[in-house]
Amino acid sequence: MTFKELNLREEILSAIGELSFEFPMPVQEKVIPFMLEQNSDLVALAQTGTGKTAAFGLPLLNMIDANRKQVQALVLAPTRELCIQISNDLKNFSKYLHTRVVPVYGGEDIRTQLKQLDQTPQIIVATPGRLIDLIERGKIKLENINYLVLDEADEMLNMGFKEDIETILKETPETRRTTLFSATMPAEIARIAKKYMKDHEEITVGSKNSGSDNVSHIYYVSQAKQRYLVLKRIVDLNPDIYGIVFCRTRQETKEVADHLMKDGYNADALHGDLSQAQRDTVMQKFRIRNIQLLVATDVAARGLDVSDLTHVINYNLPDDVEIYTHRSGRTGRANKKGVSVSIIHSKEKFKIKDIERMLRKNFEQQQIPNGLEVCKKQLFHMIDKMQQVEVNEEQISPYMDQIMKQLEYLDKSELLKRFVSLEFNRFLDYYKDAEDLNYHERDRGMKRDDRGDRGDRGNRGDRGSKRGDKIRFKMNIGNKDGINPSRLLGIINDVVGDKTISVGDIEVTNKFTFFDIFADQSDKIINAFADQKDIELGVARESKGYSESSGKRRPESGKRRTDRPYNSDGGYRRKSSGDDRKSSGGSWKPEGNNERKSESRRKTSGSDKPWRNRR
Ligand code: AMP
Repeated sequence: MTFKELNLREEILSAIGELSFEFPMPVQEKVIPFMLEQNSDLVALAQTGTGKTAAFGLPLLNMIDANRKQVQALVLAPTRELCIQISNDLKNFSKYLHTRVVPVYGGEDIRTQLKQLDQTPQIIVATPGRLIDLIERGKIKLENINYLVLDEADEMLNMGFKEDIETILKETPETRRTTLFSATMPAEIARIAKKYMKDHEEITVGSKNSGSDNVSHIYYVSQAKQRYLVLKRIVDLNPDIYGIVFCRTRQETKEVADHLMKDGYNADALHGDLSQAQRDTVMQKFRIRNIQLLVATDVAARGLDVSDLTHVINYNLPDDVEIYTHRSGRTGRANKKGVSVSIIHSKEKFKIKDIERMLRKNFEQQQIPNGLEVCKKQLFHMIDKMQQVEVNEEQISPYMDQIMKQLEYLDKSELLKRFVSLEFNRFLDYYKDAEDLNYHERDRGMKRDDRGDRGDRGNRGDRGSKRGDKIRFKMNIGNKDGINPSRLLGIINDVVGDKTISVGDIEVTNKFTFFDIFADQSDKIINAFADQKDIELGVARESKGYSESSGKRRPESGKRRTDRPYNSDGGYRRKSSGDDRKSSGGSWKPEGNNERKSESRRKTSGSDKPWRNRR
């Protein structure tokens, strides 16, 4: 099908021709003829980025009488950014018509908009709040409109515009024709459609709720504390990534973005603590690809419309499937392929199943790549770039003789090796000891491996790489309580109930004892000591959680570990309670954590000589 076959005016065909719209997109093939030929209302289920704006915009412009100086069509959109974008699109489509389009939205001086409204436009594109304001001021009258479009209706409801929408609907004549676009179909949309729309038809582009077919959904399973490292691996595995990392809270957004920036990534944060001007700046930088990774909350990202994202990363899975649909619908737009990646921990697999069911899509679990795979990917990316680089002969030629002379003793392979090393050594270095971030059953509490450790206490030799990182623990008993290394081991055996815990370096001070345990045994010891009344056990300092080996992207060296915002389980540091907590730089929250256990530890803090008391 061609646009010409859709019976659009010549002026419109010329304008969209200039925009290189060759063939109608699926939503346009369905919606344009409907709006032009049918007299009833329409509910269209379609994702953003599927060509919706032209789907309703082209028929609107086709039907509107540019000689009639009256508002004939109203388009409602959830955010000022979408409002501006729709209005710009409509202006482009109507380049050869005389139709006037005016956007009105909050967050901008109302006087400018009032001036634009003075020369009555035929189409108003509005956000609900500002529109009501202007209606109340008597500056906009909707009594003559013929067409009403509700764009991203589900988003408008999510943003709390339900009452505003109903108020606006009541201001419009019953004779109007309504077209409602929504990515999802929550019950409230169905209710609005039933109450305010006449014999409406429903069109679905793609299957309901399913989102675009251009999006593949993948997930990685890791321990919660490794989430950030997994994110870095994903980004490193995709050197040309251009995507949004969705976080749950503003705080998390800031922290993840800060970490990425410190680690040398081209990232920034978008969240509600930023002023509108700051948000605009970040969004603009992202749009023009000055920023490669935008770390954002769902709410803050709402106004952002970018059609060529390669990836959407769910740093955390949202609780709501609809939110997942919205997030993933931000990639795979305009006929491009996209990937929606979720980083989950083992207990969240059921959530993936739920989303799969609702979306009727299969999610693929992928292995988190190891250091070698990432390095290979980066290396060949660099080689590709070298092949494609534009050589500026003119600027380089004055130096070529000298360069050739200086390097004449190197043959081609030696030259390439050096060139690659120059760029690549730091990366290789960074990933050479990279740990396996995939979740394994052995990562859970008591592991089968542990049984093999019997008798190995204190002799871990080179098993570090197999056992994971070491975690430094701190106990509130020391010399003054009669502790020495062998008594410490005795206590641990006693409390744990077997001899499976491998204890590394031990340091006994007057009041405290510090010792290392392999990360994969930490749950076990934590759980065992949780019920001890007199002994307080906490993490003294973190395992490697946030940095992998050394190298280019490592966080600033020399930075105190306790400066990191995460505690050892990858959760956020909670407020310290008690001296020990303060000095331990983070509280422990075992997987499957229960607050009762931490509570019991908290109660015991402050005991002067817990070990003696216990005895
Ligand atoms: P929308 O869903 O309206 O935001 O459109 C997504 C992107 O697709 C925008 O960049 C549009 O300019 C583009 N677009 C819309 N319709 C077509 C078409 N028929 N051919 C090519 N690009 C299109």
